[in-house]
Amino acid sequence: MKFGTKAIHAGVQPDPATGAIMTPIYQTSTYVQDGVGNHKGYEYSRTQNPTRHALEKNIAAIENGKYGACFGSGLAAIDCVIKMLNPGDEVISTNDLYGGSYRIFKTIFEKYGIVFHFVDMQNTSEVERVLTKNTKVIWVETPTNPMMNIIDIAAMSIIAKKTGALLCVDNTFATPYLQTPLDLGADIVMHSVTKYLGGHSDVIMGALVTSDENIATEMYRIQNSSGAVTGPMDSFLVLRGIKTLHLRMQRHCENGKKIARFLKSNARIEKVYWPGFEDHPNHTIAKQQMRGFGGMISFTLKGNNLEDALAIVKKVSLFALAESLGGVESLIGHPATMTHASIPKEVREKSGVVDSLIRLSVGVEDAEDLIEDLKQALN
Ligand SMILES: *Cc1c(COP(=O)(O)O)cnc(C)c1O
Repeated sequence: MKFGTKAIHAGVQPDPATGAIMTPIYQTSTYVQDGVGNHKGYEYSRTQNPTRHALEKNIAAIENGKYGACFGSGLAAIDCVIKMLNPGDEVISTNDLYGGSYRIFKTIFEKYGIVFHFVDMQNTSEVERVLTKNTKVIWVETPTNPMMNIIDIAAMSIIAKKTGALLCVDNTFATPYLQTPLDLGADIVMHSVTKYLGGHSDVIMGALVTSDENIATEMYRIQNSSGAVTGPMDSFLVLRGIKTLHLRMQRHCENGKKIARFLKSNARIEKVYWPGFEDHPNHTIAKQQMRGFGGMISFTLKGNNLEDALAIVKKVSLFALAESLGGVESLIGHPATMTHASIPKEVREKSGVVDSLIRLSVGVEDAEDLIEDLKQALN
């Protein structure tokens, strides 16, 4: 089955009680049993809920996986993966990881004896350098935020197999429409569903997908034991959101391309970071592992002036100044003072987050209007 058909049909069926074509919001905590142990597969909604269950099957299907699990946030999904580990186990990840992922690794899990290494994953020898027999997880994010670096998922899978480590890919930025990590050798795919899968900036949710039965058993055991599940109302909203994921992503990609080109041609812009450009350092890998380049774009200004950047993010009117990404509406952000403000200046500048860096989450409005808005703000 092709992507758009799966997005609309996978995991859902007419409601057996009424024939309702849309999966009902089963807003219930418990389920009545005919006799002790005699139930219909649902006992208690932390463990099982029909609306969440439909969504979990749907997300698993669009990621080309077998088992899906949904959580109360992207971070709760990450929490589940790291809870599969034991003290002394090691994790290798990227040095320009999403800030919240870095924070949970360092401030929550390090004290339980899990060891984290952060390296430049664009360079596979950097990963091999810190690989030991204790390496149990390789945690990849690609494209990265906000520098839009691309990491070679298939190359990471070969390294992970050397020590039997699990390869986990945070697929939030690309979505399964553009990239399916399980097909490239990943063991687990993670999503901040909050972003493109939900797509309408109205839900906080996370998800994991795997095709491995043993990993799935652990995943569901931790999901139920730690209890960071998502609710039926939010599951319904995301089921609805995913039905248009392929349509939205097509437009995000088209608009992204038009805006990246506009920015590149503007006299005030120093550099545009977008993996679709042939001069992007990892364009070749991006082209191999992705089916399009998405609507996330970062750029810097000539002169690299903080005041200039702050003036531009204030002057736009269609682009809303906000954190987050992946919704139908366009957002603009200033990483140095917003998402990356807690990172020391020297450290963030080393990874490219300079004072004039601006990040766009290009929405699905008409590109001409978005370009007009950027044009007037840049003048
Ligand atoms: C937002 C985000 C997360 C965290 O997800 P939440 O739903 O906010 O908990 C993780 N990874 C990436 C790449 C993100 O953009």
